[in-house]
Amino acid sequence: MWSSPAREDAAGDEGLLGAGLGEVATPAVVVDIAALRRNIARVARWARQAGMRLRPHAKTHKCPEIARLQVEEGAVGVCCQTVAEAEAMAAGGSPDVLMTNEAVDEGRLARLARLSRSVAVTVCVDGPQGIARLAKAAARHGAPPIGVLVEIDAGGGRCGAPPGEPALALARLVAAARPLRFDGLQAYNGKAQHLRSAAARRQAAAETALAAARTRDLIVAAGLPCERVCGGGTGTAHADAELGVIDEVQPGSYVFNDLDYGANEWVQGSAFAEIEQSLFVLVRIVSRPRPDRIVVDGGLKAVAFDSGPPALAGIDRARWVGESDEHGIIEVPARFAGVVGDVLRLVPGHCDPTVNLHARLLACEGGRVAGVFSVCARGSW
Ligand SMILES: *Cc1c(COP(=O)(O)O)cnc(C)c1O
Repeated sequence: MWSSPAREDAAGDEGLLGAGLGEVATPAVVVDIAALRRNIARVARWARQAGMRLRPHAKTHKCPEIARLQVEEGAVGVCCQTVAEAEAMAAGGSPDVLMTNEAVDEGRLARLARLSRSVAVTVCVDGPQGIARLAKAAARHGAPPIGVLVEIDAGGGRCGAPPGEPALALARLVAAARPLRFDGLQAYNGKAQHLRSAAARRQAAAETALAAARTRDLIVAAGLPCERVCGGGTGTAHADAELGVIDEVQPGSYVFNDLDYGANEWVQGSAFAEIEQSLFVLVRIVSRPRPDRIVVDGGLKAVAFDSGPPALAGIDRARWVGESDEHGIIEVPARFAGVVGDVLRLVPGHCDPTVNLHARLLACEGGRVAGVFSVCARGSW
């Protein structure tokens, strides 16, 4: 067996407490706790007023501590994309998890079945094989009835059965399979979340809602109760509430925000127009080879680039021009005062995959590290 030497900095979290942002080892992710709390409270208040059940997506943060803040503000539980997230959230105190994803292999199904003995677990399915496999694993591991949502593809083009009759057929299969319990529909449209104009997002959300409503009505007419219609993300939640078909929304990114969501046009006065940037990647200037150029110690391994390069917080006219594994190259105005050793804050293009690159988030209050959140279950299913 190979074994790795213990990481030198693994026990170093204690020493971080109280450190100023200029003192921490970079690259590192910091979360402005005050802004995070305001985002959580804002969307919780909005959901209460809109009469929506709120089930935030935990794939964004993968941190039980943040899930706990969301549940304390009234979230009914969390969504998870991987079984590892579900296990981490349950262990961290979330009483109710929804797997918004298809788990099909025996190992993962066994873990879900075991998890369902201690917390309420709901799982998505989109085909007969998935249903049969889940039922078999639940029976074998003596699970209590597991809630099941039939996932429909209502515009997202990812997993999901076609809406209407095919989804009804699956609902019937679930209802007949012990020990499963048919609870309703999952109708998430990921493609709609980043359409820039509010009107375009509303239009896409309306198409999704129509397909979900038709499917729900067909299922109810066939004599099955369809108690939950779940879906929606940060981009469409406002429209989803107005449309009134989805009754349980699952936004994730609103806790942190990112450049991609920052570029959306929001309905003025809505809770989502007020979302603040709470997540930053700290990097250090390691070189200033020219007056108009700096090089920082964070590149592809510190920030996700799938939604474009990061921006420099608070520095106008800085332009990201290149990256490699451990470097970022940024053009700055010649009068920019930064020198080698200075710490800068990057705003990532896409928050979820950025977080997944890091083992921990530094929780920051008043410019100092007040806590360390472990990014549980990152990179694993
Ligand atoms: C990612 C995801 C969400 C949350 O989306 P955001 O854009 O981060 O708000 C909700 N539901 C499902 C199924 C997802 O995959």
